[in-house]
Amino acid sequence: MADFDLLVIGAGSGGVACARRAAHYGAKVAIAEAGRVGGTCVLRGCVPKKLMHLGAHFRDLFRAARGYGWRLGEPGLDFRALLEARNAEIARLNRVYLDMLESAGVRLLHGRARILAKTAQGFRVEVGGLEVSAERVLVAVGARPSLPEIPGAEHAVTSDELLEEIYPLPHRLAVVGAGYIGVELASIFRALGAEVTLVFRGEQPLRGFDHELRHELSQALGRAGIRLLAQARPERIVPVEGRFVLETSKGPVEADRVLLATGRRPTPNTAGLGLEALGVRLAEDGSIPVDAAYRTRVQGLFAVGDCSDHAGHGLDAAQHDLTPVAIAEGRAVAERLFNANPKTVKYETVPTAVFSLPQAAAVGLTQERAQALGRKVKIFRTRFRPMLETLGGGEERVFMKLVVDAEDDRVLGVHLVGGEAAEIVQGFAVALTCRATKAQFDATVALHPTAAEELVTMWRPVEA
Ligand code: NDP
Repeated sequence: MADFDLLVIGAGSGGVACARRAAHYGAKVAIAEAGRVGGTCVLRGCVPKKLMHLGAHFRDLFRAARGYGWRLGEPGLDFRALLEARNAEIARLNRVYLDMLESAGVRLLHGRARILAKTAQGFRVEVGGLEVSAERVLVAVGARPSLPEIPGAEHAVTSDELLEEIYPLPHRLAVVGAGYIGVELASIFRALGAEVTLVFRGEQPLRGFDHELRHELSQALGRAGIRLLAQARPERIVPVEGRFVLETSKGPVEADRVLLATGRRPTPNTAGLGLEALGVRLAEDGSIPVDAAYRTRVQGLFAVGDCSDHAGHGLDAAQHDLTPVAIAEGRAVAERLFNANPKTVKYETVPTAVFSLPQAAAVGLTQERAQALGRKVKIFRTRFRPMLETLGGGEERVFMKLVVDAEDDRVLGVHLVGGEAAEIVQGFAVALTCRATKAQFDATVALHPTAAEELVTMWRPVEA
């Protein structure tokens, strides 16, 4: 008999979710982790980023507060205090994760795992010098920043360093790449006081998002004082007396730090696990192909989260390499194996948010994607000044857009920039998951005065 019913490799969001759920159903579970428990999300992703975002957001609140009668001195940022508070919270969460695993009865094995062989009883796996056996193995090892092959790339930092250990606050920051990480960190560091140049090769930031959302956000980033260098390719990074020159196809950018935010790939995390010797052929980006039940082609071997191809779902990776997707997939594996529940993940209505300043968030199809799928669409759109800005004196607008199927009236997509976009979109994701129609949006009474009420009061299409 094998030592464990399930061995999970990687104690990030997907792995921990699967291990806990499996243990809850009585399985004997171990989880192998080479670093700290918590994964990218907790240690160098969503959590530190959101804390930095909240910290940076005070700049706008201090400005608005004056309009509401608050008399404040000149606000100043103690950057070290922000980092220390953030790091203390990460350490707390790390302990919470350890406690959760312990109380669930999951055995934590420290060290890098390598699958040695598949036997009649399951798998033999080496973890940090210890050999164990498990009937089934789940690979949930995540991804790592992928750097462009340009001379001097080694002088740059990635989000890993920027979210873990940056000090002092760079006076000038050059950011390469305008996906989630580039846009979020450009915004956050701009609001904290840095001069920021965002260098990207497209016409607008955030490829894959709705074209109008991209345009609105791009305008807002410009108003926030970020220099946008569009259609520019990074060519080389040259160190010059303690600072750097980022040479681009559109000219040089001088900076104290250069951040490369050019995507993430499963390699090197998936390399060295022993997968290929078992007969798993990794995709070109290093991801592990899985079927709709997260099975690899080796019986008893599963993969979820950023290291997998998400059941070959075919949509942009940026829509799927998200913490809650990894968690949902991890739980689906545990439900199927240990609770006879063929749970699936609803990829079509995964909500997503970019924690820039202002925020952008969306659920469902973009206008372009809906049209490319052959849908005739009606578009509803509004731009309005949120109430905070009326006395606060700011010029920000909230942008909202609905993409509606002209034939069956289903709301296919909700796209927002500004205000509490992320909080609002989470609620509307439920409506889209329930296949809500525009008529049902219209039948919903508004909650006044809020920004979200605009989503149920837009009644005339601007494009049909
Ligand atoms: P993204 O894939 O979102 O963006 C990568 C950016 O880098 C794009 O602008 C891309 O340009 C550009 N790029 C890629 N290769 C090159 C190159 N060789 N030279 C120049 N530019 C290049 O990746 P991120 O790194 O921003 O984020 C990684 C993943 O992490 C995301 O996909 C997302 O799933 C997840 N994430 C989610 C967050 C959230 O939910 N809020 C926050 C942060 C990360 P182009 O568009 O032209 O290809």
